This record gives sequence, structure tokens and C-alpha cells, in this order.
Amino acid sequence: MFEALSGKLNGVFDRLRRRGALGENDVAEALREVRIALLEADVALPVVKDLVAKVRERAVGQEVLRAVAPAQQVVKIVHDCLVEALGGSVDAEGEPKAAPGLDLNAPAPVPILMVGLQGSGKTTTSGKIALRLREKQKKKVLLASLDVHRPAAQLQLETLARQTGVTSLPIVPGQTPLEIAARAMETARRELYDVVVLDTAGRLAIDEALMAEVAEVKRFANPHETLLVVDAMTGQDAVVTARAFQEKVGVTGIVMTRIDGDARGGAALSMRSVTGAPIKLLGAGEKLDALEDFHPDRIAGRILG
Ligand code: GDP
Repeated sequence: MFEALSGKLNGVFDRLRRRGALGENDVAEALREVRIALLEADVALPVVKDLVAKVRERAVGQEVLRAVAPAQQVVKIVHDCLVEALGGSVDAEGEPKAAPGLDLNAPAPVPILMVGLQGSGKTTTSGKIALRLREKQKKKVLLASLDVHRPAAQLQLETLARQTGVTSLPIVPGQTPLEIAARAMETARRELYDVVVLDTAGRLAIDEALMAEVAEVKRFANPHETLLVVDAMTGQDAVVTARAFQEKVGVTGIVMTRIDGDARGGAALSMRSVTGAPIKLLGAGEKLDALEDFHPDRIAGRILG
């Protein structure tokens, strides 16, 4: 992800560095190129406008242009603005603040609801999260599939559970998503699980029926985290999907999958501003250990690499 954007921005900043002393026109020209690079990477237009305006405001100050290495100052400003667009912030010393990460700070069993479109990587991510919680945090995790529309979905989660060494809720044919959620929570309370991952059904596109079902399950399960899984490769569509889920269901965080592919990266840069929800995790491959924490400063560093 971000290869093309990174290449273009590096080109812009290399040219800027070669100029040595900079005038306002040089910065304006560089910002025009930054704007085009961001748009070509599929970053949402309002986000591009906001980002470029912020960089301009900070870079056009006389101190920046009079600095010993003005181009370096401009790169630093772009870096900080990218971190902010990605939902990060820096403390008073300029050090990046810790990324939000998964919040399990609630009485056990903590329900985590996984939502998203079919094919986004929801079930795989449920398995990845279960594996990480079991291995790194020594949590006792129960996986439950609430997808009653595709019988294969429940079996897929069962297989994933076996691969990750966690338990999946036994399949009882004919139950509704709410009945399965209730059974999962009862089982988790009785058998002292720490976390219950509820994997909801997805559809190929957003429709009223999907949103109503997910919203109903959410009201019932009262999850501590509602994680929306989106595919980075779908670009602007991922952002549209996220906005719809945020409006209709409400999410506490986003997991962006397929960052191992050649996605242009615009979705990652637009998500926070468009939905208000933080990206919490990244899916970086099909393997079950291919799950990364989301660090806005590291991503910004990767873009400006
Ligand atoms: P769901 O329909 O949303 O539950 O999607 P699945 O979890 O079944 O995933 C669909 C396909 O995407 C599967 O082949 C997964 O192996 C693959 N997949 C999931 N996450 C990633 C990822 O981060 N990177 C790559 N390359 N493939 C992924």
C-alpha cells in the first residue's frame, strides 16, 4: 500500500531539496503537486483540501522559509499533517501518542462485534484477533458466527478456531443471529471466557436488511468494541461503506485489510476524517498472524519513506 503515493511525494520533495533556498512560489508549486498525488491515491477530496490547507498555513510562515534546510521543514510539516489525517497526534515533546488499539477494558466476558461487507476479511480478522488475544494476552476467547445466511460461514469460523487454538460456539442449525449471540454470551459467562468475538453476516453491498440486522444484533449484544472490517483495495468504496456503517450501526474502530496488496492508500488517509472512527488494526496477509497495530506516525513515515 502507498507505493505510488510515496514515490510521487518523494519526487516532489527531492525537487524541493535541490532548490536550497525556498520562496513562497516554490512551496505553492510543491503543494499543488502534493494535492495531485493525494487525489491520485484516492484520498477523499475534502480530506485532501484540508490537509493541503493545513500544510500551507504552517509552511508559509516566514520561519520555515528562512530555516537552514527549508525543504526538510516542509517535509516535517507534511509528515505531521499526515499523522493527524490518520488520526494520530503528538505530545508536547513532539513524540507520537500511543495509537488507540483494541479496548478490552470491561467486565468479562467482553463482547467484540465484527461487522462489514462480505469478502472484506471479517471472518479471517476474527480469527486473527482471537489468535492474538490468546497468544499475546493469554485471554480465553470464544468465537461465534452469527451468519445464518451462508451456512459455510459458520463452518469457516469453526475451522479458523481450530487453527488458532480457540473455541468456537457449537453450531445449532435454525437459530437466529440474536439466539446465537445470546447463547454465545451465556456460554462465555458460564465457562468464564474473557472475550467473545461475534462475527456477523456480510452482504456484497450495503442494504437496509443488512444494516437492520447488524444494528439489532448490536443493540442486543451491547458490544464493548464494534469493529468494522474494510478492504483497503476498494479505495473510495471502503470510505463510503464505513460512513454508512458509522451512521446506521455505529462503530468504535476500523480494521483495514489487504494492506499487503497494491492499494493506493487513500481509504486509510480518509477514514478518520470521514467517519470519526479510528483505524485500530491492519490486516497484512491471509495468514492468521498477519495482523498489525495501527500507528499513524509509522504509516506517515512509510508514506514519506
Ligand atoms: P468475509 O466474507 O468478510 O468474512 O471475508 P473472509 O475473511 O472470508 O476473507 C475473504 C478472503 O480475503 C479470504 O481469502 C482471506 O484469506 C482474504 N483476506 C482476508 N484478510 C486479508 C488480508 O489482510 N490480506 C490478504 N491478502 N488477504 C486477506
